[in-house]
Amino acid sequence: MREDYAPGELVIPDGLFDFTRDRKRTFFDCNCVVHISVADPFCNALSEKVYQAVQQTGAIVHYGGSLITIEGPRFSTKSESNVFRSWGMSIIGMTTCPEAFLAREAEMCYAVMAHVTDYDVWHVSELPVTVEQVIQVLNRNTSTAQEAVRNLAQLLTPERTCECGQAVKNAIITQPERISPKSRQILEPLIGKYLP
Ligand SMILES: [Zn+2]
Repeated sequence: MREDYAPGELVIPDGLFDFTRDRKRTFFDCNCVVHISVADPFCNALSEKVYQAVQQTGAIVHYGGSLITIEGPRFSTKSESNVFRSWGMSIIGMTTCPEAFLAREAEMCYAVMAHVTDYDVWHVSELPVTVEQVIQVLNRNTSTAQEAVRNLAQLLTPERTCECGQAVKNAIITQPERISPKSRQILEPLIGKYLP
């Protein structure tokens, strides 16, 4: 969505705009109300490591920018694309929502290594995005992604320096005794450690 984020380059976004409609977006759709904070939807510590890992491959990578997730499966119209740009979006895709939010609910660190495949339809010098074009850049990016993941494995350490591991700690609104046995059983892996 930006002139300076060119096809073939990578982006580690630090913002997320959920523009999806028909997806299941929470583990807590039962009688246990949990409001997690997703003001910063990605793990900063992990994002920085992913950024380093990609830098080590020699690829051009940008840190920062907002990703907008559209429902798809179709691509955007020019009108939509221009609106998303006016909203300050940097990159656009059809994934990351709701994964980022579910990861936060599960207290997992989550970061995005995004690959720019095209300028989207707003770009006047670009022909409308085609599947062939997207797949071509995608294939080129695969080896960079694989190398970055290998690098990342070397950079990760067992101890966590972020807050992701306690995301649900103070977010459970429902009183424990009011959570039904069935919900309790289903949610045990996520909130069991916080319930008496
Ligand atoms: Zn984290």
